[in-house]
Amino acid sequence: MTDSIPPRRMAKPALTTLGGRKLQPSTLMMGLGYDPVLSEGALKPPIFLTSTFAFRSAADGKRHFEAITGIRPWAEGDGADGLVYSRFNGPNQEILEDRLAVWDGAEDSLVFSSGMSAIATLLLAFCSEGDVILHSGPLYAATEGFIAKTLSRFGVGYVDFPAGAEPAEIENALERAQVLARAQGGKVAMIYLESPANPTNALVDIEAVATARNAMFDGRESVPPISIDNTFLGPLWQHPLEHGADIVVYSLTKYVGGHSDLVAGGLSGAKRWMDPVRMLRNTMGTICDPNTAWMLLRSLETVELRMTRAGENAAKVCTFLKDHAKVEGLGYLGMIADARQQDIYARHCKGAGSTFSLFIKGGEAESFAFLDALRIAKLAVSLGGTETLASHPAAMTHLSVPAARKAALGITDNLVRVSIGIEDADDLIADFDQALAAV
Ligand SMILES: *Cc1c(COP(=O)(O)O)cnc(C)c1O
Repeated sequence: MTDSIPPRRMAKPALTTLGGRKLQPSTLMMGLGYDPVLSEGALKPPIFLTSTFAFRSAADGKRHFEAITGIRPWAEGDGADGLVYSRFNGPNQEILEDRLAVWDGAEDSLVFSSGMSAIATLLLAFCSEGDVILHSGPLYAATEGFIAKTLSRFGVGYVDFPAGAEPAEIENALERAQVLARAQGGKVAMIYLESPANPTNALVDIEAVATARNAMFDGRESVPPISIDNTFLGPLWQHPLEHGADIVVYSLTKYVGGHSDLVAGGLSGAKRWMDPVRMLRNTMGTICDPNTAWMLLRSLETVELRMTRAGENAAKVCTFLKDHAKVEGLGYLGMIADARQQDIYARHCKGAGSTFSLFIKGGEAESFAFLDALRIAKLAVSLGGTETLASHPAAMTHLSVPAARKAALGITDNLVRVSIGIEDADDLIADFDQALAAV
């Protein structure tokens, strides 16, 4: 039976090792999951614009649907991994998923139409009425809103703890989540983290969260997975699965897409965690489209180059800004003052990334004067693109956050959020210099 199944994406096994050497992600991005032989020799994958896929036989069609619906688990070589319908998957998205998984050393990945559709599908897949989500705070505003305003309508509660929390505080929050879940007749369904948090850059101690989770749920049947939004440092500078997380969440719109020209999301983790999410994605159709998947394949070829250059640029720009007379301070992971935060950074991160907070001396007026005077840097929200962006969280992305919570999170009127791109570092320094002179 098996030999009658023609190869689908790969005529030969994928090249992942060479002479005993395990190939690195930057090498695998140029070939993994795609075989030109099967597409007329086209070096790059064609964009497969099709809504449906032809079965070779009725029996094949049945086998594919058994796999899609989970009635019969998919097994290597039985042909049931074939494509059925583009709401479920397509060749471009599958190649992208193979390559995205590589960066986190994950067994599986899923791609989505946006970071938020990835997050919404993930949470809906794991939470039932009465359940509780334990999360770090702050989260990306739309994520926080989805948990507090949307999921609450379906009887899902939440408990949160501050990003920089000590291990005892994390254990305490987990206890409270467990008590709330029992009272509501549910379970702790998900531990959801975001690190570094936006816009403060506060880091979460993933290892301490995993220790607390493992101690409480050791040997129990329903273990809540630990998910973490790794958009700010991933996929290069932080690998959360190595520190005890189970699911890595991405807005691929940011560093992975990297050119500010698409919106997409991704999840990486063990098949055990991805399978229920895949089922719900199949139902809801939150997968990304083939064109976006193709653009992300192009982006992944240069993600290491871009993030490395942007990181070097950010270090140079921050060195210039650090002692400037009109700068009050910096929230940059390469220059952490707090000992607890520095300890988390040293254990979890391989680099400081290129998104940071710049505190201008003064308030909103001075910050606006600075933003309006920038010539190279563009005034826009978002981050992780080739170009440098600057924005004012208090008046823009976080405008609707109540004043007390803004104060608690350190989102002040003199805070400018900067995402450094891959321009010439000295040109950027010249731009920041002249803009500060205009304050
Ligand atoms: C942008 C962003 C999201 C949402 O992603 P979209 O692609 O805009 O839906 C989620 N988390 C973080 C940290 C983000 O920066």
